Amino acid sequence: MILFARQLWVPFRSPEPGRFSMLKAFAIQLYSRVSYLRYRMNSTCIFCKIASGEIPAEIVYKDELVTAFRDIHPVAPTHVLIVPNKHIQSVSQAEAEDEQTLGRLFTTARKVAELDGIVDAGYRTIVNSGAHGGQTVFHLHMHVIGGQRMKYPMG
Ligand code: AMP
Repeated sequence: MILFARQLWVPFRSPEPGRFSMLKAFAIQLYSRVSYLRYRMNSTCIFCKIASGEIPAEIVYKDELVTAFRDIHPVAPTHVLIVPNKHIQSVSQAEAEDEQTLGRLFTTARKVAELDGIVDAGYRTIVNSGAHGGQTVFHLHMHVIGGQRMKYPMG
């Protein structure tokens, strides 16, 4: 518990400029850790349920390895999540046997971009991993975001 509290305190000690960015970093970390604890306590995974069809989502593509569906809180005109049908917690838990599935995430990103007509304009693919990566749903997923010019800096 003490270790957990000390980790939450880290963003306040880091030399980032501006109070707002420190608060934002703290909020993202807090949300990520609470989501992870909730996932561990419930031992249910919302993306497993979407991949299996147990709960609804706006599915845009599905095959034997991955499912792609629209993000419930889109940050751009195209915001699709691609998840392995099999539960893999994050990139850190991916094994050699998952390489075909991990490759399929990228070829599906291209399919999604074709579907939404954004191949030529370009788009961003993001995979957040763990608390510092900003992951809030602990089932590996790739964001495909496009339909507008992406902003910098990242991180
Ligand atoms: P991340 O922060 O990388 O873990 O991304 C999780 C994403 O999942 C967020 O962009 C959420 O908006 C999205 N999300 C959470 N629940 C759902 C849901 N039921 N259907 C679609 N997207 C979801």
